[in-house]
Amino acid sequence: MRYILVFFVLINSFLYSQTMESKDSLAFYTNLAQENIKANKYKNALFYTNKAINISETKGTNMDQAIQTFNLGKIYYSLEKFNDAIAIFSRSISFFESEKITAKYANAYYYLGLSYIQKRNFNSAEICFNKASFIYQELNIDDKEELITLQKGIIFKNKNQNDKASASFNTIISKPDEPHLWNSKAEALYQIGLIEENDNRINLALNYYKKALELNSKTGNLELKSKILLALSTAYEKSFDKSSAYSYLKQHLNLKESIELSKNEKLGIDDYDYFQEKQRLKKIALRDKENAEKAKTSKFSKLINILAISLISILSLLSLSLYKNNIIRNKSNLLLKEKNKELLVEKEKTEKASKARSEFLSTVSHELRTPLNAINGITHLLLEENPKKSQLPYLSSLKFSGNYLATFINEILEINKIDSNKVEIEYIDFNIKNLLLDIKNSLNELAIKNKNEFILEIDSAIPDNLIGDPTKLSQIFMNLINNAIKFTKDGSVTVRAKVDSLDTKSAHLSFAISDTGIGIPKDKLKSVFESFTQGSVEINRKYGGTGLGLAIVKKLIKLLGGQIHLESEVDKGSTFSFNLEFMVNSEKVSIIETPKLYDDSIFKNKKILLVEDNKINQMITQKMIENKGVICTIVDNGEDAIKVVAANTYDLVLMDVHLPGINGTIATKTIRETNQVLPIIALTAISLDENRELLLSYGMNDVITKPFVPEEFYETIAKNLI
Ligand code: ADP
Repeated sequence: MRYILVFFVLINSFLYSQTMESKDSLAFYTNLAQENIKANKYKNALFYTNKAINISETKGTNMDQAIQTFNLGKIYYSLEKFNDAIAIFSRSISFFESEKITAKYANAYYYLGLSYIQKRNFNSAEICFNKASFIYQELNIDDKEELITLQKGIIFKNKNQNDKASASFNTIISKPDEPHLWNSKAEALYQIGLIEENDNRINLALNYYKKALELNSKTGNLELKSKILLALSTAYEKSFDKSSAYSYLKQHLNLKESIELSKNEKLGIDDYDYFQEKQRLKKIALRDKENAEKAKTSKFSKLINILAISLISILSLLSLSLYKNNIIRNKSNLLLKEKNKELLVEKEKTEKASKARSEFLSTVSHELRTPLNAINGITHLLLEENPKKSQLPYLSSLKFSGNYLATFINEILEINKIDSNKVEIEYIDFNIKNLLLDIKNSLNELAIKNKNEFILEIDSAIPDNLIGDPTKLSQIFMNLINNAIKFTKDGSVTVRAKVDSLDTKSAHLSFAISDTGIGIPKDKLKSVFESFTQGSVEINRKYGGTGLGLAIVKKLIKLLGGQIHLESEVDKGSTFSFNLEFMVNSEKVSIIETPKLYDDSIFKNKKILLVEDNKINQMITQKMIENKGVICTIVDNGEDAIKVVAANTYDLVLMDVHLPGINGTIATKTIRETNQVLPIIALTAISLDENRELLLSYGMNDVITKPFVPEEFYETIAKNLI
């Protein structure tokens, strides 16, 4: 019992699923449409056919669409909506055309032909029937032949080709009396009756009509029956049988009425219009949808176009900007190259200008030194020769101015030399204590004059034997101490030298020069180290000076590897400090102190050769040495000097460096080839490229710079005569 129940449920669910499956299918709606046609319910038939068409359009094949459209066409034909039928059969045919030929394809042509006949378009109808006939033949379908022959007969008849028409109809009539031919045969008999009646053969016509009516009664084709009844009525009327005519007319009208009724049953008058309106709306909706899609597509393609245009524009802009960028870069490169060239040219120009400036300064200072030497020398000589008391202030003014000029020129030359990197650092043994003591001695006079206490504090730990550049160190101390004394009145000047660190090889020393003088304002603490910068115009007037001293000091300290610091407060005093490193000489060398004081007797009757081309300088130098009892011989060029030295005996030679012909250095070098003992002292207004070391390298024993400082001049000669 349980198994039976399960089986029942299964079967039920299967059937249900089948029904569900078929509910929305093409076959389902096609069947419904067919059933409704049979039941004469054309409204429903139209509705279901339409559903079937929709399905065929969305889910079905091309063939499905062809068949469903054909079905709709048949409904239109049945509803005698021949124009619509023509349109829809044509549409159906267009679907069939792309498929393999079938009977339905031929049927579509056949029905299209029928529709054209109804619209009395016989030519188109004939074409359609020929096409249908061809397809049937291709498919070997014979049972449709009579139908086509019949329709062709009707066409011939309507084209007044009665013979041909009769021939066609007779072909059908002569066919065996089979049920599938009854309808065609009845129609053919009726059609021949019409031809006979038309030819006034009324009895023959009546005969055909009666046979037609008889056969028609077997088919139930009421439409044809109605037509035959009317034809009989007309024929009887023509044969003057009024009662028969009337009787058939009455039958015809009754039948006609029932047919009309049935037609109305098929479809309400408004129903078709309603359906067509729906179809129209559907078409509009479809068109709108298509348009919307088109619009969407065009919108999309517009968007793509815009995007593409934007992209192209961006790319173009990008390329353009790259191109421009490239051009700009190239231009910039060119510009840079040009600028570079210009800069190189400028650099060369600047270098040339700097060189020219140095050379100019060197030449000018050199040229100034010679007359300055004359001024200073003559002033010295005049002061030596017991001048009148009234002349003394003039001569001392002259001496001051001469000295000032000499210092100024020397400082300019010194700065110029440092800036042109022409200054070389010496590494020689020296004793810093002695150096500072010497400076103190030479500046003591000024300190006393300014009523200053001069204190020297030297760290006892400082080694005696340092290696360094005592000349530059002296220059630094001389400048700083001189300033300290100069800018201090009734105060004190303290020089401190201290060991910061010391080992066997090197000593780090720190120095400080402090005073209790006028001090330097805060805003001048930096600028005082610049060339030609002085505290103020008043200071310049009051204290004199060139404004170059501190610039030289700063540069020299830097050159020696140190750095200068300045602390100062106005009216309280200043402290200049700096650190320097010196090497320590491990071998204790006793530095022979050169005797500062010389005895004038050393000059007595000494034979000195003066090599000098400038007449004034000849005169001054000769006078200066002769004043000390020297026997002086003068030659004015290098070549003569060589000859004279070779031929005579001299105690010393004063050799000017710049001479016409061979200069002093070459002459010395030549003399040294034969005579190594004769002291030769160079007289020079040191130029840019000359220095003490260079001159000594030619074999000279010492150097006296022009303009002479008389004390130094005599000291140097005396030192070399010993
Ligand atoms: P100058 O030859 O004029 O002394 P410097 O270069 O040596 O040139 O000094 C520049 C300026 O610095 C001076 O004019 C002065 O105003 C200031 N100065 C230098 N040393 C001192 C000092 N010890 N006390 C006060 N002022 C100083």
